[in-house]
Order: sequence, then structure tokens, then C-alpha cells
Amino acid sequence: MAKRVLVKFSGEALAGESGFGIESGILDYIAMELKTLVNSGIQVGIVIGGGNFIRGVSASQGGIIRRTSGDHMGMLATIINGVAMQEALEYHGINVRVQSALEIKEVCETYINRRAMRHLEKGRVVIFVAGTGNPFFTTDTAATLRAVEIEAEVIIKATKVDGVYDKDPAKYADATMLKHISYEQALKDNIKVMDDTAIALAKDNALPIVVCNMFKKGNLLAILKQEENAIYSKVSN
Ligand code: UDP
Repeated sequence: MAKRVLVKFSGEALAGESGFGIESGILDYIAMELKTLVNSGIQVGIVIGGGNFIRGVSASQGGIIRRTSGDHMGMLATIINGVAMQEALEYHGINVRVQSALEIKEVCETYINRRAMRHLEKGRVVIFVAGTGNPFFTTDTAATLRAVEIEAEVIIKATKVDGVYDKDPAKYADATMLKHISYEQALKDNIKVMDDTAIALAKDNALPIVVCNMFKKGNLLAILKQEENAIYSKVSN
């Protein structure tokens, strides 16, 4: 069983049906799923996106907001999500810390790798917010970076679909799920597991990427326990 993992949720996932904001029922569900990992002795780091509030690319589309500012806005959105997730985890009795790549010290800790490692060792969940702290990156890249930095054995990208498909399952009925693909294939075939920067970083550091459906109850733990019934796709060497 993996001892330390980084789980990445998209911001959109928190929004539920409405596609915007935070649905408390989903926060609650995710917290309970993560609790099963913590109770099994797994050390958990989390990165949440910000797409349920704002994405830099979309915000800057009208030409009024510069991309850099749009990205700053996007990073701030991830802080909102992280603070919300902290509350949900604490509600379920889990020890948790939020660490931000941008200093916002009245709200949460600033990201310090050694401090994060210590929290994890003590069984605290660490939520990494504000992405990498730099514009022109995504939270997928931030999640991969933090996963490598905290020496996680695997990064789990928790999505709305069961795994990686050869084509878009929403558009094509004959799309088939791929159990395993190589980093090269993920980059070459333009399979949108994560953006290229994130995949390249995972590849350089031989960090396996697991893609799974966050709404399949018990699946996260089943994956980490390498159970037969676990449903996921894996990108690795
Ligand atoms: N962002 C950024 N640098 C980072 C991570 C994120 O500038 O290192 C900004 C970027 O504008 C992005 C937004 O934060 O669009 C929200 O993140 P993302 O789109 O990755 O969220 P998700 O799609 O996972 O909800």
C-alpha cells in the first residue's frame, strides 16, 4: 500500500451540478473519502484547482484583464477552495493544514517543504493552495510539483470519469478505457490526462499518475490498497 499520496481535485468538481462555487455536500463527500485514507495510515497531500471560480485563460479572453492578473485571480480561487476543504476535513475530525504558494499569512501557512513533510509525518493532511505561485501554470502542474517535492509515491487525479480513454467518452460510445499508458503515449497522443508540463515533470521524476473517478465511493482506498475491484488508469514508464 502506498504510504504517501498527492490527490488532485479540479475546482469544478467542488461545484457539483451548478458548475460554479462550492457545494457543501461534495466537500463533505470528499472529506469522508479522504478520511478512509488517513485512517488506513496513508499520508495525504491535496491540491484543488480553482476552475469553479475563475481560470486565468478565460478571465483574460475579453482583452481587459491581462493573463498574468487573470492567473493571479485563478490562484486566489484555489485558496478559497483549500480553506473550504480544510473546514470539511476538520469537521470530520481530521488534522489538516493549508499551505499557500503565495503568502497570505492571516489565512494559512506559507508553503515550506520541510514543514509540509513534518505535517505529513504527523498524520496531518496538507492542502497545497495557490498553485505554483506563478502565472502560466496549471494546478495539475502544481500538484505534480508538490507530489515530487513531498516524495509522494503516486499522484491521483480524481476526476468525473473512470480513467483515460482512447477518445472522448462523452462524444463516442465506442471509446475504450486504457488501463495503462506510458508517459510518451500520454504526451504524443495528446490524451488530455494532464497538461504537457505536468506529464513531463511526472515523467522526469518517474512519478506514476493515476486517473480515477472521485465519485465512486471507496475507489481511492481500493486503488491505494491495490485491490482487484479498483477502477483507474495509470500513466507510468
Ligand atoms: N494558476 C496559475 N498558476 C498555477 C496554478 C494555477 O496561474 O501554478 C491559475 C490559472 O489561472 C488557472 C487557475 O489558477 O486557470 C485555476 O487552476 P486550474 O485551471 O488548473 O483549476 P482546475 O481546472 O483544476 O479547476
